[in-house]
Amino acid sequence: MKRLGLVPLILFALVSPTAGAQVPRPAGQSSAEPGPVTARLTQELVAQYGEGQSARIQRGLQQTRTFWRAADGDERTFEAFVRAQFAGDAKALDALFQRLEFVLESHFGHAHEIGRDFRWHTDLDLGPMLPIDELLSGYDAGAHFIEDAFTSKLAFVVLLNFPLSSLEERLQGGETWTRRQWAEARLVDLFAKRIPAEVNQAFAEASGQAERYIASYNIWMHHLVDAKGQRLFEPKKRLLSHWNLRDELKSRYAQGPAGLVHQRTIQKVMERIVTQTIPAAVIDNPLVDWNPLTNEVKAASVQDSDRPIPAGFKPSAAPEPDTRYKVLLDCFLAARQADPFSPTAPTHIARSFDEGRQLPEVRVKQMLETACGSPLVKQVAQVIERRLGRKLEPFDIWFNGFRPGAGLDEAKLDALLKAKYPTPAAYKADMPNLLRGLGFSPERSAWLASRIEVDPARGSGHAMGAQRRADNAHLRTRVGRDGMDYKGFNIAVHEMGHNVEQTFSLVNVDHWLLNGVPNTAFTEALAFVFQAQDLKLLGQPLPDQKALAEKALNDFWMTYEIAGVGLVDTAVWHWMYDHPAATPTQLKEAVLAISKEVWNRYYAPVLGQKDCVLLGIYSHMIHSFLYLPDYSIGHMIAFQIEHEIDKTGKLGETFERMATQGRLTPDLWMKKATGRPVGPEALLEATTKALATLR
Ligand SMILES: [Zn+2]
Repeated sequence: MKRLGLVPLILFALVSPTAGAQVPRPAGQSSAEPGPVTARLTQELVAQYGEGQSARIQRGLQQTRTFWRAADGDERTFEAFVRAQFAGDAKALDALFQRLEFVLESHFGHAHEIGRDFRWHTDLDLGPMLPIDELLSGYDAGAHFIEDAFTSKLAFVVLLNFPLSSLEERLQGGETWTRRQWAEARLVDLFAKRIPAEVNQAFAEASGQAERYIASYNIWMHHLVDAKGQRLFEPKKRLLSHWNLRDELKSRYAQGPAGLVHQRTIQKVMERIVTQTIPAAVIDNPLVDWNPLTNEVKAASVQDSDRPIPAGFKPSAAPEPDTRYKVLLDCFLAARQADPFSPTAPTHIARSFDEGRQLPEVRVKQMLETACGSPLVKQVAQVIERRLGRKLEPFDIWFNGFRPGAGLDEAKLDALLKAKYPTPAAYKADMPNLLRGLGFSPERSAWLASRIEVDPARGSGHAMGAQRRADNAHLRTRVGRDGMDYKGFNIAVHEMGHNVEQTFSLVNVDHWLLNGVPNTAFTEALAFVFQAQDLKLLGQPLPDQKALAEKALNDFWMTYEIAGVGLVDTAVWHWMYDHPAATPTQLKEAVLAISKEVWNRYYAPVLGQKDCVLLGIYSHMIHSFLYLPDYSIGHMIAFQIEHEIDKTGKLGETFERMATQGRLTPDLWMKKATGRPVGPEALLEATTKALATLR
């Protein structure tokens, strides 16, 4: 995991490459009308700065007009602003660019530091928290920056002088752009949307409501009964949908055939949730016994919580009234409110693909379909069937029996590590050695270690990068009273990978505006490169070919599973845009139809059960606004990066070369890093090789 600092969060939410010369006027914004004033200004500025600036002048005026509202000033104010702020020659433009880069680094960097301090006692294990810490942790010093930048007209200076560009333009022309052009693109991305506060508020409310709905969606497992009234699951087990249910299902593989009944029951519970035939009374309720197969409910005959069962209690069997889809619909309606204010990414779908991922939707869809439809699926399924000794069932999309890390003596490693790292400071002191062990030069290792602080985490650990080049990254790690154990070390090495990426991609990138990597999948992939070497750092043998093959098949199967979920998520958002007046029940019917269609095409031939709706269970689909396609792409990117590092055999140099490219588009970044755009090929090649190794 990586904790994003303020800049990536803000940039991620607001990046908006828009189509340069054809920026349409956002509906609902009043502004000084273009026309005679614009024509006069164009003429005047061309006369002053020459015909060579004509295209820049016209584009700048149009971009400024697009976002200028009546409240920003009248015609005279607009004219005076343009005359004063247009940088009419290369020298003035360079000076303006440098000034902006300087102040933005300062703003985002310091806002990040303030946020880090406000969260200091919440994030770090430094003794009891005060009641005020919860309030402090919610404070965001940069929250109103974009709004303020428009009010103060800073944003208009950027829009007047630097070109907006669409994803399409970046994909077509980006390879020949200069670094400065890329930095300008990131600069103007910041101000490519002007979403009113009330729209952001509506978005936050819908998303908060969805979070709360999902966060309380628990199933009390001891109250699931079969036809004979027998309880299948242990007392006190309260599982959150879908994560805990899925993990419980996975854990039952260890039991072999004895776990089948539990797995089938969990699948039935999930289907009931997706189809909303689940009785409303059983959600997060330890007072009701439920047979998911027949849907019969009764007052619980055993007490499994602090809540006593009331005498004469008769629970209703009425189904949940499509609340799941009402919540999703409300998220869609809130997201859609931003459309008119986001001129060239005018739907949430476009913002998600073109701005967030910066990969066109058609390409992402193709990648997901390639993974789901690969002939390798059947071959890997055969391996799984042989191991299970039975035909696959739908829930086997969560098969977890590949064993990449078998044979680890964790107790021995715990003892070794506790002696080596009794405190976070001991880990910090050893960091130069660890980095040398990974393959960085002594000079690089010392430098990186000097740029990474190590703090005691309250949670399992995270990496917090800096946002200002003079600031340091922070590695938050969990060290128990008796020292660091192997789990803690494994996570610390992963987080250190984030910190090293964060340091290279902030300090060693030529433009501050280009700091970072294209998206979180890249930073995760780079962190996993470190994590995969953790045993080597302890002087233990690295995983052999067989273990690596197991890992490849495991990742392939996970990609196969989550790619279908991503396809469903995307199709559902299209359906909502096509049916904006739909009722929750109509949305439910659509989700069921889409889930079945994707299932029947890619999963039924392998796992059976035509018309299965299991792909609709992910909670992210309800509250994460089209996030699900990222998981599959993340797996693909990880394989591409790992493959390149294996190929060069030089982890340190290759890692640094990749991490200092800056925030280009994912495809361009990957082409420069590995020679190929983002895609599933590396994953599929590794899977083919793994099948051969295990044969
Ligand atoms: Zn991570």
